[in-house]
Amino acid sequence: MIELDGIDVSYGNIQVIWDLDLQVTEEDTVVSIVGPNGAGKSTLLRVMSGLHPVDTGRVSVWGTDAAGLNPTAIVEKGFVHVSEERNLFGDMTVRENLEMGAYTHRDSLDDTMQEVFDLFPILEERSDQLAKSMSGGQQQMLAIGRGLMAQPKILALDEPSEGLAPQITDRVFGKIGEISEEITVLLVEQHVNRALNMAERAYLLENGRVVREDTGTGLLESEHVKDAYL
Ligand code: ATP
Repeated sequence: MIELDGIDVSYGNIQVIWDLDLQVTEEDTVVSIVGPNGAGKSTLLRVMSGLHPVDTGRVSVWGTDAAGLNPTAIVEKGFVHVSEERNLFGDMTVRENLEMGAYTHRDSLDDTMQEVFDLFPILEERSDQLAKSMSGGQQQMLAIGRGLMAQPKILALDEPSEGLAPQITDRVFGKIGEISEEITVLLVEQHVNRALNMAERAYLLENGRVVREDTGTGLLESEHVKDAYL
């Protein structure tokens, strides 16, 4: 489980997260973090991944203080973050990209890759193709597939619908629903409606603070969300 306890976060001397508490446990199916541009959503994922430090407060990763863990150790504990940029290796094949994702679990690579192919048959069909030759939707599926190769207990997805056509977004969200039947998904999204509809619990972030925490439907039905985001 990942727990943020009273964290403040800055870039240089500009504070962007204020006294923030948040929890994701393996019992959760989908936890969504929604909010406007610049609210601090991606920063939270970077903090959880050990890519950015907190000024004050504590980040606990399955009971261990993240301050003492490097990003690889956090992946090994079970938290995997698929960033907004996707960070694929364009000149490597689909299969090679998936292999890169398994760096913490080399011994079970073949079995895990088969599971990823079962979820995303297109990746098996295109396994020898260069990543850069895939469409945007396929690249997003590859980025998610590569995240799954690390066998996460919690998979964090930053704006998985970014840059995708609505029909492709539907398909990607369908897959995220399937993934959440097996493991916990932490979803950061600007598509508020969609992200809240599938969330068991959700946080609304504004200006670096959690302004509301509720069930997905609870938030969706709140006047504040209806007025400001729908
Ligand atoms: P978006 O959906 O636009 O990515 P977000 O909610 O994910 O928004 P963050 O990207 O976490 O928000 O940004 C939070 C704040 O931190 C913003 O004010 C942003 O300008 C600032 N910020 C983000 N990354 C950096 C950085 N590398 N250096 C300086 N400031 C940053």
